[in-house]
Amino acid sequence: MPSPRKAAGPKDLRAVVDRAVADRAALDGMRMSFSTIVDRQRENAGRIPDLDARKERLRKTKEACVGDEEMLAQAIASLRGNGFRVIVAKDAEAARRAIREELRGLDLVVKSKSNVTKEIRLAEMLEAEGIQVVETDLGDRIVQLAGCAPVHPTGPACHMTRGEISRLFSKHFDRPVSEDPMELTRIMRDEIASYIVKARAGITGANAIAANEGAVVIVHNEGNASKCSMLPDKHIVVTTPEKVVPSLDDAVNVTKLQTYLSTGKIVSSYINVVTGPSYTADIEKQVYAGMHGPKEVVVLFVDDGRLEAGDKEPQYCIGCGMCLIHCPAYNVVGPVFGSPGHMGGIGVLLEGSRGRDDEALGAGLYLCTSCGACTEVCPSRIDTKKGVAAIRRRTRASGKGLLPEHTAVLSSIRNYENPWQVPRKQKGKWSSGLGLPRKGEVLYFSGCSTSLLFAETASRAVRLLTACGAEPAHLGEAERCCGSVARKLGDENLARSRAEQCFEDFRAAGAKQVVTSCPGCSSALKHYPEIADRYGIEVQH
Ligand code: SF4
Repeated sequence: MPSPRKAAGPKDLRAVVDRAVADRAALDGMRMSFSTIVDRQRENAGRIPDLDARKERLRKTKEACVGDEEMLAQAIASLRGNGFRVIVAKDAEAARRAIREELRGLDLVVKSKSNVTKEIRLAEMLEAEGIQVVETDLGDRIVQLAGCAPVHPTGPACHMTRGEISRLFSKHFDRPVSEDPMELTRIMRDEIASYIVKARAGITGANAIAANEGAVVIVHNEGNASKCSMLPDKHIVVTTPEKVVPSLDDAVNVTKLQTYLSTGKIVSSYINVVTGPSYTADIEKQVYAGMHGPKEVVVLFVDDGRLEAGDKEPQYCIGCGMCLIHCPAYNVVGPVFGSPGHMGGIGVLLEGSRGRDDEALGAGLYLCTSCGACTEVCPSRIDTKKGVAAIRRRTRASGKGLLPEHTAVLSSIRNYENPWQVPRKQKGKWSSGLGLPRKGEVLYFSGCSTSLLFAETASRAVRLLTACGAEPAHLGEAERCCGSVARKLGDENLARSRAEQCFEDFRAAGAKQVVTSCPGCSSALKHYPEIADRYGIEVQH
């Protein structure tokens, strides 16, 4: 599977998407793994009865903490008080420089999961400087050896079959490796262990940082993060300011949600709470650092535009991957949708919210269908659709990312009152023999796509309304486009003008109630409540 790239334009992205969708086996494997997660969530749902309350608490925590520089300062003070060395890197380059400095004189580092290290392309930089980076999570190691993109935060290689992994390992170890999963895990565990015992520095991420206690919380199942953080002399935690929460209780809430939503389990095998370097005071009651664990623990906060971001909501993400599982676009194209370290629409938002429009375009700004399915399942209720629309408006205004197809669709809406580039009169064809009145208190709004592509749905909707005694009217070929597609393409003026004109038509037809069977039209007509209020017309789906 091709990796998500930085700053690729939409034309370039189309070629990448074409290649990605051609790899059907990988996409099938990914979707199958997603179903397994959903099945496990269903099985265990009864064991986490307070799920909704936990999500509510998470949202409130994120609203209160993300972007709060005082809370960050409190976390830094508590961490320092506990003996951590804390570095704040303003941007990716400063972060890479700081890590290079921490690893001075070393030629090997072992590492466990950390999205931000992918975001700042740490491994590429270290490898280029002659420092070998060994991923210790099995999935991450597979992806590292395969040179492909991870497809899910906790199941990075879940698109690959055991056969593919066996071939990959056979090549890596230069001898046949069986397809038996136990053998595959054993052989890689042994190799990773041989690196961990040699490494003098280990890098991990953090799932949360508790400001009050000055604690780093790391969740994992394999045990690798414990080894990376305990066995080497130096443990470097690479994280971001939005991981700071007020207390350990809040951190546990994050871990609980993240575990259930990303794996279906209700608790992970390990929750490490690191509150400083290892030390002993068993000799004359003097403190000596580095007994069984590391002498030094460094926490590196990578800001990289986060504190200054105008829209902070994308930083509410806890990386659970629920949005990927339920995203219709991601299920079709895989990880070409997203930015390094942040798969799917949230990757687009994290780039765009920091003003990185080229990167947002390269991450697939126009791959999002604006369906809102991600928001429904997101524990932080991140409104990706809204964020994507804002970035599209901005990039459109600056002339970036426009495709000839977009221009054609927008012209079609202006000229034909539909985005499908067909003459307006064709929109009324489906209703021509039904004898529907053009005026009436209840008006059926079929919408462009239903009228032109799913005529049977429109006819059935009319039959249903009639059976309910509604006597629906229909505007026939005079029905306009609701403007939904224009808004999705970032042309707010066109979208608003279409909504306004639709309501003008509804009033002229004497409608008090407009019923539509199209979810897109329903959402577009309800998008400007002030227009609906002004006309006093209710829209129902
Ligand atoms: S955007 Fe929401 S659903 Fe997606 S990974 Fe982040 S927290 Fe999970």
